[in-house]
Amino acid sequence: MTQHFIVIGNPIAHSKSPQIHQVFAAQIGIDIGYQRQYCPDDTASFTAVVEAFFHGGGIGANVTVPFKQMAYDCSLTRGGLSEHAKVAGAVNTLLLNKDLLEAGLPIAEALYGDNTDGQGLINHITRLGWPLNGARVAIIGAGGAARGVILPLIQAGIGQLTLANRTMSKATDLVSELSNASPTINQHPINTCTTADLTGHFDLIVNATSIGLSGDTLPLADELACHSAYDMMYGRALPFLQHFAARGAQTSDGYGMLIGQAALSFERWTGQVIDVAQAAATLKNQSA
Ligand code: NDP
Repeated sequence: MTQHFIVIGNPIAHSKSPQIHQVFAAQIGIDIGYQRQYCPDDTASFTAVVEAFFHGGGIGANVTVPFKQMAYDCSLTRGGLSEHAKVAGAVNTLLLNKDLLEAGLPIAEALYGDNTDGQGLINHITRLGWPLNGARVAIIGAGGAARGVILPLIQAGIGQLTLANRTMSKATDLVSELSNASPTINQHPINTCTTADLTGHFDLIVNATSIGLSGDTLPLADELACHSAYDMMYGRALPFLQHFAARGAQTSDGYGMLIGQAALSFERWTGQVIDVAQAAATLKNQSA
């Protein structure tokens, strides 16, 4: 029997999620339908789309820009949130809470939210063979993507974390908010600075800004160096990676993170573990 999934976004035509999830389904031999679902950018429309999908027998939904916060609010007051979704303040994966359904609650009251973005990054970095245990890490950016990776990085055992952002107050506000929300983060001091003031040598620097969309370049100090540089963006030439590659660092864009977070969503929905390296190789062959 075909199992149905969607990704909800606005815009959504560009999403690679259907292709990625079909590769996962083929790997484990199940039949799925996975559709892109455009939605007007308002809470009422989002809620209506989600409820209609699950009432129609849908198994799971991915949520992307600009709906991750709405999905969080929706799950918070209904079927609950995973710890990663709570700390991230955002949901990228929706499913039905089976315990609540079995207890007799209606589908609309059983929507459960998870966030797999951060763990998708960790899984990709692990596949790259970049050590995280004890690593000195800097994240540039203090938006939703940075927020979602801080807890998974700390849980992966990194040594030191510095959060740099163009707007300094957003970095300090984020650290204080997350420290209040998570005892794990609270026990791990996080340094903050402006992007231009970020200096020193790091094992890993992660670009979690959306600057790649604008064509601008980050103001990186000459005294800033790293062993590995990771840009969460993908699908275009990235000046951030070019900057550090020219200084001898190993680099990666965020396509592997996209596949990693998708694999974790798929596992939440189906209970089946995906061989992500094999799926990534299949996707690479498909696009060659
Ligand atoms: P947000 O809009 O929440 O945050 C944007 C961040 O980028 C802020 O820190 C902002 O700084 C900074 N920024 C934006 N423009 C500039 C600029 N011109 N100069 C310096 N800093 C700038 O975005 P998200 O956190 O949701 O997304 C960030 C990136 O991560 C996006 O490119 C997104 O595509 C990518 N991403 C990739 C994923 C993957 O699976 N590969 C998953 C999730 C996100 P300020 O606070 O000063 O405005």
